[in-house]
Amino acid sequence: MTLEKKISVPLKQRVRVVVRVRPQLETEDQVWVHVADKKTLHTLNHRNTKETLQYEFEDVYDPDTSQATVYNECVQPLLVKALNGQNASVFAYGPTGAGKTHTILGTAQDPGVIPRCVRGLFSAIEEETCKSDAADWKFKVSFSYLEIYQEKVYDLLKPGCTVLPIREDKHHQIFVTGLAEQSISDIKEFTKYFAPASKNRTTAATKLNERSSRSHSILLLKVIRTQNVSPFKTLSGKLYIIDLAGSEDNRRTGNQGIRLKESGCINSSLLALGQVVDALNKGHACIPYRSSKLTRLLQDSLGGSAHTCMIVNLAPEERHYFDTYTTLHFARKTKKVVNHIKINEFVEKIKPMKRGAEKQEEYTPKKQK
Ligand code: ADP
Ligand code: MG
Repeated sequence: MTLEKKISVPLKQRVRVVVRVRPQLETEDQVWVHVADKKTLHTLNHRNTKETLQYEFEDVYDPDTSQATVYNECVQPLLVKALNGQNASVFAYGPTGAGKTHTILGTAQDPGVIPRCVRGLFSAIEEETCKSDAADWKFKVSFSYLEIYQEKVYDLLKPGCTVLPIREDKHHQIFVTGLAEQSISDIKEFTKYFAPASKNRTTAATKLNERSSRSHSILLLKVIRTQNVSPFKTLSGKLYIIDLAGSEDNRRTGNQGIRLKESGCINSSLLALGQVVDALNKGHACIPYRSSKLTRLLQDSLGGSAHTCMIVNLAPEERHYFDTYTTLHFARKTKKVVNHIKINEFVEKIKPMKRGAEKQEEYTPKKQK
C-alpha cells in the first residue's frame, strides 16, 4: 500500500517558554531570583543590587511547584496533539545544577516528565479505545533514545561507539539513520528498555567528568495511529523530550583538555541554537540549522511544524547569577519564535486508472479454453 501525505494549512503558534526556579540548595549563598507571581520573575541587578530586573513569561514556577504541576501544565496537553498526528517537543534549558534532569527524568520517588508522559500516553490511548469509533483505529507506540556528545550522535538503546548520521526525508522530517526504535505497549515495557539506557548515560557521567551535564539527551516517542476502514488514514505523531547540556559559559570555568573540548562543543551547539533563534526572529530566509547536530535535530521544534515548550530551569543562588542572566536573555528571545503547526496525515494513494482501462476490460474477449 502506498501512502500519500495530506497537505494541511499550517497553524501559527509561538514557542511556549516557562521558567522553573529550583529550591535553594546552597544555604550559605544569597538568593538572587524571586518569583513575583505566576508570570513574573525578579532578579537582582548585578550593577546595582538595590534594583531588580523583571522578566515576564507564560508561566513562572516557584520552588514549591510539584513535578505533577509542571507535567500537567506543560506536557500533558501535548499528548493529544501527538495522538492526532502532530509533532511536539519539550526541552529543558539552563545551567548545570539548575534542575533540568530533575524536571525531565526526576527520581523513583518524584518522577519527572518522561515517566509521567509515557504513563499519560498509554492512558490517553486507552481513553481513545473507549470511543465509539475505537474499533476503526490501531495504535503503535515506539521510542528511541539518543545522546549528542561532542557533536556526535550516539544511540543510548544500543550502547557502543557507532556515530549516527542525521538525514532529512522527502517530507522534510529529520531522522537519525540506524537509530534503534523499540516498540512498547505499556509503561512496564518502556521502563524495561529505558532504565538501562538511561543508566548508560549516568555510568558514563561518573567516568567521564559528568558527561551527562555535558551532553544533550533526546527521547523520541512515536505514536502511529492507523485506520482499519476507509479512508484508511495514518496519523503519525512524534514527541521529543530533551535534556540539554548545561548552558553555562565554560570559558569562565577554566576547563582544560577533554573538558575544554567538551565545553567548546556544548558552547558551539548552544551558540548555534541562539543563532537559529536570532535568524528566525529577524525573519531571515536561511536559518542556520545545519551548523550543529542539536539545531539540525531541533529543526522541527524551532520555526518548524511542532508544538514546542521550553522549560527554563534556574538556580536561585547568587553563585549562578551570570548563567541565570544569560539563560533568561536566551529565554526572552525564544518566546518570540513562531512555529507553523502541521498534521502528519497520510492516506492510501489511489493509483490513477489507465485511460480506457474500463473499456478495455469490457471489450477484451475472454480467452478460449
Ligand atoms: P541539572 O540537570 O540542570 O544539572 P539537576 O536536575 O541534576 O540539575 O539538579 C541539581 C540538584 O538540584 C539535584 O540534586 C536535584 O535533585 C536538585 N533539584 C533540582 N530541581 C529541584 C526541585 N524542583 N526540587 C527539589 N530538588 C531539586
Ligand atoms: Mg542534568
